[in-house]
This record gives sequence, structure tokens and C-alpha cells, in this order.
Amino acid sequence: MSNGMPPIIVVGAGPVGLTTALGLRFYGLPFALFEDDAELSLDTKAGTILTRTLEAFRRYGVADRVLAKALRVDEIGDVERATNTARPSVQTALLNDDTRYPFVINMPQHHLEPILRAAIDERSPGAFHLQHRLTAFRQSDRGVVASFDTPGGAREIEGSYLLACDGGRSTVRSQLGVAVEGESSDVRCLLVDVKVDLDVANPRDYPYLAYFADPEEWMILVRQPHCWRFLYPLAAGVPEPTATGILDAISLPWRLAWVVRGWASDALLDGYAREQRPVAAEGSGEMAQAAHEYMAGQAATVKAMSGTAWANAATRTMLGVRLGVDEAGDWSMVKTDRGPFRAGDRIPDAVLHAGDGRPVRLHDLVDDSFVALYFTDVRRRPHIPADVPGLKHLIVSHRDAPLDGGLRERSLFDVGDRFRQLMGCPRDTLVLVRPDDHIAAIAAMGAARAQDLYRQAVGQPQAGADR
Ligand SMILES: Cc1cc2nc3c(=O)[nH]c(=O)nc-3n(C[C@H](O)[C@H](O)[C@H](O)COP(=O)(O)OP(=O)(O)OC[C@H]3O[C@@H](n4cnc5c(N)ncnc54)[C@H](O)[C@@H]3O)c2cc1C
Repeated sequence: MSNGMPPIIVVGAGPVGLTTALGLRFYGLPFALFEDDAELSLDTKAGTILTRTLEAFRRYGVADRVLAKALRVDEIGDVERATNTARPSVQTALLNDDTRYPFVINMPQHHLEPILRAAIDERSPGAFHLQHRLTAFRQSDRGVVASFDTPGGAREIEGSYLLACDGGRSTVRSQLGVAVEGESSDVRCLLVDVKVDLDVANPRDYPYLAYFADPEEWMILVRQPHCWRFLYPLAAGVPEPTATGILDAISLPWRLAWVVRGWASDALLDGYAREQRPVAAEGSGEMAQAAHEYMAGQAATVKAMSGTAWANAATRTMLGVRLGVDEAGDWSMVKTDRGPFRAGDRIPDAVLHAGDGRPVRLHDLVDDSFVALYFTDVRRRPHIPADVPGLKHLIVSHRDAPLDGGLRERSLFDVGDRFRQLMGCPRDTLVLVRPDDHIAAIAAMGAARAQDLYRQAVGQPQAGADR
């Protein structure tokens, strides 16, 4: 399938390029990663990594080594600065049933990147190229030809695709004439990492990540694995626009894999732009605006969230976005309640029980496949289609599958019917889940066939495409 195809060219070895390269490797796609600098960045940048990113790291096989070097955080403090009063805060234990990583982690970006790079070097030796600055690119018969400046002179590389992971001042984006959408905040921040003993000599009892709310003098205190980080506002200015890059590294590699394997048309790639563009352009702003209004006590809507409602909403939002997967384009980065789930939502990483007795995590099942989940009673022996490459079918049943029913290996036991109730779906519902954990479609079992929903989701023609 991917044999003989030119490599997918990934430009930029920040967290997004490194994670995307690992994603391509996971799906068995050939790639070459190019970075302008002579080494990975040592700048003080990101310090906190959210749950959804950990889920991507798990899928791409680097979560354990990242976690081994990180500080896990189960509470994000919210303190009124003027009075030092704690307000209801983000408690990630709320996510215990939704994810195997019910926490965020603190870890400096310049510690994370070498871990990702080491995994690339181990798994795809020779694929990572430093001191290669992309200067231009052009379309070719087989894909794209990219031109690089290197210490040894100019170099041209042919690729099947070119992925622009070259950061906020992207060369690729500017050469394509793609404007950055959305608004920039006018708050400029100072970020200071300090070796100071706030554990024993000057003990403080704030959570490892704490927001000190104030309309003017707000501050964020972050316990890093080896130091303390203080972040606070400076005079107004124009900072770099931010982007939701790891979400791209979740969304793009599986699509490329489906296209390269011949399981989908290029239309699946168009879906990437359609879904991610509003999130990148307006999504961080949507959440940041809500948080800002809350911290400054401004908005009637967020003020109206009494008790722990705001903290709970902020906690759920950690798990990422609802994508606009269908025509309605209904997306949001702010998730105020848990269910019922709908198309576009990230499905929880629920624990179910396989026919061979093992507990299984739902996200493991979709690692490299769409999965059609049939929420129904396995005792009634529902007909489910044969699996095909790219699409598996599994029954989720409150009653365990009898050994003489023929469906034992294709069923998952849902203890206490809890997962179905969490999903908020009636019995006999079909839920199609994509390899990025997002729900592609939900339908009544009698009303729709999973194969049709799958074809629609990957842009295949409806007739004659059964394999
Ligand atoms: C002070 C600060 C604090 C932050 N805190 C957080 C946080 O707590 N949590 C969080 O999630 N995010 C945080 N961020 C944001 C985070 O650092 C960025 O979102 C992240 O670095 C973006 O990753 P990226 O891979 O898209 O781009 P970058 O990290 O910018 O990487 C792009 C790479 O592409 C290379 N490149 C550029 N042009 C070319 C070219 N023409 N050819 C070849 N290579 C090229 C660059 O050298 C660079 O290595 C923070 C940022 C800053 C500055």
C-alpha cells in the first residue's frame, strides 16, 4: 500500500511536527521530518500538557516515557487573589470514567520534545533531518517537491504530501497565502522559571497548577518537575497567535493512512480542514474568553454557573473538543455537561469486558480502525456484519454473551449498563467511532447500516464498496 510511495514531508520539529511524525509512523506511513534549527528548541514555552494530548501520546506509543518524567496534576486551583480564597476548582477525578489519564501533566516543552524525538530516532532511524530550512515547494505528479536550505547547500526532496508543522510564523502557510484567522489577545505575559523551595523551607499548599484570579493582577503558578513557574501579565502588546496543534496531530495521520491504503478518497483530507479550521481559529478563543470572563467576574452567563458548575465545565473541557463532523458543523471547545453524547464528541475511554475475560479500553479498540458499537442485548443474537479492513463491529451488551450464542468474541460486556447510560443512548443504538476517538455517527440500529455510515464518514461511494 504505502510501498514505494514518496515520504510524507513534515516540516518543523516542534511538539506538533514530532507528534505528527509519530502518528504517521504508527499508521505505517513513510515520512521525513525536517527542522530548520541545529537542535530542538531550548526556549521556555509550554509547561502543561492536557489529557487529550496524553491520549494521543498513548496511541502513538510514547505516553509511558512522557509520564515517567512529568508531574501529574489532579487539581487546577482557582484562587481569588485579593482575598487568597480558594474557589471551586478543576478536579480531574471527575474524568475517572472517561479516560485512563484522569489528570493533566506539568512538564517543560524542552523536556518533552527530546522524548518524542528519541522515539522517532528509534523507530524510524534517519527520518529526522536537522538544519533543513524549507524555502519553497511546488506540486508534482507524485505529490510535492520541497526545497531546503542546508549547511551542505540547497536540496530538493520529493514527497507524497507536505505537512506544515512549522509553527506560528509558518513558511508554508505564508507561501500558500493562507491568513491566520481569529483574534489575538492583547495581553502580553512574562513567564519565569525559578528554583525556589516552596515545598519544605517555604511551604505553600496550592495545587501544582493554580490560577490566581484578578481583573488586573492575575497570575498562574505552575509546579514544574524541577522548578516553579510564575506567569503573569505585562503591559498590553500583541502576542503570537496560539494554535491547537496537537489536535491536528490527532486528526491528520489517520486520514492520510486511510487515503494511502485506498480506503478513502481525498475528500477525507478535506474533512480535516473543515473540522479543524474553526477550532484553530476560534476554539482557544472560545475557552480563553469564557475563562477570562469567569476570572474577572464579568459575564452573566458564567456567573450564572453556581457552585462547582464552572469548575466541572472547565474539567470536562480538558478532554478536547466536539468536532463538526457532519453537515451541521456543530463544534465546541467548551463542554458543560457529560452527556448525552452526540456526533462529533470524543467518546469516553470506557472500560468494557471482552469475551476472553480481559478488561478492554475503548480507545484501544479504535487505534487503527473505525468501530461500530451496537448497544443492544447480545442474548437476542443480533446480526452484525463481518469486519473489513478499516471497520470493526462490536456489540456492547448489559448481559454477558452466552458461549453458545456465536457472538462471544464480538461482544463487550457493559457491567451495570453503565457505559450505555453514560452515552445517554437508548437501547438498540448504533454508534460509529472514528480512529481519533470522535463519534462519526449515531443512529437507531434498524434505521441505518454501519457500512453506509462508514462510507459516508470516509467519503466512499455508497454502492459497490463492500469489501
Ligand atoms: C511562553 C509560552 C508558554 C506556553 N505555554 C503553553 C502551555 O502551558 N501549554 C500549551 O499547550 N502550550 C503552551 N504554549 C504554546 C506552545 O509552546 C506552542 O503552541 C507550541 O510550541 C506550538 O508547537 P508547534 O509544533 O506548532 O510549533 P513550534 O513549537 O513553533 O515548532 C515549529 C518548528 O518549526 C521549525 N520551522 C519553522 N519554519 C521552518 C522552515 N521553514 N523549515 C524547517 N523548519 C521550520 C521551527 O524551528 C520550530 O522548531 C506556550 C508558548 C509560549 C511561547
